[in-house]
Amino acid sequence: MVGAGLARGLAAVLHVAGRRCQFCAAVLEHAGDFPLCPACRALLAPRVGGYCPDCGICYADSSASAYSCLACRLGKPPWSGVAFHGPYSGALRDLIHQYKFSHDHGLGLLLRDLIRQAWDRHRLPRPDCVVPVPMLPARVLDRGFNQSAELARMLGKVIGIAPLLRGLCKIRDTRAQSSLGRAERHRNVAGAFEASMDLSGRHVLLVDDVMTTGATLTACAKACLAAKARRVDIFFLGRAV
Ligand SMILES: [Zn+2]
Ligand SMILES: [Zn+2]
Repeated sequence: MVGAGLARGLAAVLHVAGRRCQFCAAVLEHAGDFPLCPACRALLAPRVGGYCPDCGICYADSSASAYSCLACRLGKPPWSGVAFHGPYSGALRDLIHQYKFSHDHGLGLLLRDLIRQAWDRHRLPRPDCVVPVPMLPARVLDRGFNQSAELARMLGKVIGIAPLLRGLCKIRDTRAQSSLGRAERHRNVAGAFEASMDLSGRHVLLVDDVMTTGATLTACAKACLAAKARRVDIFFLGRAV
């Protein structure tokens, strides 16, 4: 992946980016394939079946039709619609990881392509506003950027809506979700977010990079509904388990 990043960087300097795959940096035989070579397009194909339409959890059989998982049948999540790209594994996981932790912003073009595919496929109604899952300002300074805000910008371009980057704010610090179990994750982020404006009657689309237990998106959706949002949908790229 380091080699691919370097090749992409060189390609950008040499103004030949349009002829290279944005994931593996292979030279594209057909310019129309851009931004992915056929092999990478197959690796990064969106999930079309075998998942829960309420939370995106993916089942073993990807050819099955979509049906609600037991958890969602027992208790419906606070959002109405879900759009996502696929399971957080393989090439998609590598891509998100590289974008998030290696600051490889050259991947932006590719992520936007994946976001467009995911958005088009799920056919959610057009929202009134696109809002990213926020990070505390100190965390944004640490990392250099909030990946959810960047994805919200990309999705905003796809839909044709400027994102409300400060629509929600994080009002207290929380422990890293990755170190916690399912129930602890929900307790950790409950009440940690607040809408920074009145969302009365608005249809909000929340954006995050990865959904794991859904604790963060649940807390954010509840914050939108508390600010009188009419409807909340969620969008994420990868669904982890
Ligand atoms: Zn490729
Ligand atoms: Zn579900």
